[in-house]
Amino acid sequence: MDAEKNEEEKNDEKMKIKLIKNGVVIDHIASGRALEVLHILGIGEDYEDEVSLAMNIYSKSMGKKDIVKVENREIKTYEINKIAVIAPKATINRIRDCRVVKKEKVVLPNEIIGIVKCSNPQCVSNKCREPVKSSFIVVQREPLIISCKYCEREAKGL
Ligand SMILES: [Zn+2]
Repeated sequence: MDAEKNEEEKNDEKMKIKLIKNGVVIDHIASGRALEVLHILGIGEDYEDEVSLAMNIYSKSMGKKDIVKVENREIKTYEINKIAVIAPKATINRIRDCRVVKKEKVVLPNEIIGIVKCSNPQCVSNKCREPVKSSFIVVQREPLIISCKYCEREAKGL
């Protein structure tokens, strides 16, 4: 459909193949959010394999974007769901032997469970006596507005 976009994807593909053998590439992260993505993956100073991080890379579709590449790391569905909250346009590329074996866009679910903490201290999801997982309903996707299922407090643009 969009020739320019396809060209960008092809270029992305080339770049990935050069830089990673096995692991995961998270592309089209909203600019400035790459460090949060690493945090979601639990990757810190003790991670021993190669990690590359690129911030504010020119992107035709997004203006600027961040990219994270992690060698020898699998990504789990719950991690993808967390990434969707802070980077709703992100794409997850699983790499095996220098080839993209699976490419998927993150999908922000209609209900976000156990990821975002409600800012209302009186909310039942914040009471430690009642172990209720936080739960937010997505009111609007762009820009993101979510509403706590229990107390209806809204959170915007996470
Ligand atoms: Zn709440």
